[in-house]
Amino acid sequence: MEELLEELLEECGPYTAQGRLADYIPELSKGDVNDLGIYVMRSDGKHYQAGSYNKPFTIQSVIKPILLLLALMDNGTDVVRSHVGVEATGKPFDAINVTDQQLLSDHLNPMVNMGAIAMCTLVKGRDYEERFGRLLELTRQLADNPEIEVDESVYLSEKRTGNKNRALAFLLKSSGIISDDVEEVLDCYFRACSIKVTCKDLAHISYILANRGKRLQTDERLFPSQYARYVNAVLMTCGMYDGSGDFAVKVGVPAKSGVGGGIMAIVPTRMGIGIFSPGLDSKGNSLAGIKLLELFSQRMYLSIF
Ligand code: GLU
Repeated sequence: MEELLEELLEECGPYTAQGRLADYIPELSKGDVNDLGIYVMRSDGKHYQAGSYNKPFTIQSVIKPILLLLALMDNGTDVVRSHVGVEATGKPFDAINVTDQQLLSDHLNPMVNMGAIAMCTLVKGRDYEERFGRLLELTRQLADNPEIEVDESVYLSEKRTGNKNRALAFLLKSSGIISDDVEEVLDCYFRACSIKVTCKDLAHISYILANRGKRLQTDERLFPSQYARYVNAVLMTCGMYDGSGDFAVKVGVPAKSGVGGGIMAIVPTRMGIGIFSPGLDSKGNSLAGIKLLELFSQRMYLSIF
């Protein structure tokens, strides 16, 4: 396996330069487009890694499945479904997804920005500090890494420039889908996107989703298996933005990408995979990261189809 990963990294290295760093969040444009890393955690307890697997980056949209999980744990499936739907939008992650005058919960899904902003209001807590604290704590727990923190400069950079998300949040409020203070909700969302992780953290998180809510070594259950099924199903149809269909054909496993260059891929019952390469394609997915996953999936017969 080590050899395979090194071989694939070499093959995919040239693709990194074809990607573009996300510069709409100014701080993200400071990344190194040449980075490419992978960490694989298998159900037999073995793990394998290569390249920049230990380099920290911000989680960005990969927080959305964790936010969905927490919303499910706090409210159950019926409430979550009535607030944010599950249908793929087929549109970019920050699209103003409204077809008529009226925006409905059914127009949202938990993996696009509007859905994620709405989900922040479903997390339980006395105030937004407590709500965000619970999300950070769950992320640390799933990753089995108590040291995970927020990248303050990325957080401030997005808070300063995130006017599109501000517009989306106001639209949610005007449609009655959220009722809390917009700036407070957005602050929670921006902080959530700025949580700093590595490929190893993402592999640990995705392994628990692959293992239907249980830790590998101890068998400790962190959440009910039905929530893993829910999250994985949503990831399969909407996890890679408007590139989810193409990804399903090429790679064939539930996954979530973020504009920081991270991808977390879940191979049910078999493995958790964390990938990092910050050069993005036109849809906001890690370009070399997808190529790496595509080749890895072919070689290891990972597609669930
Ligand atoms: N913080 C980013 C935004 O809201 C997340 C987008 C992403 O990773 O897809 O624009």
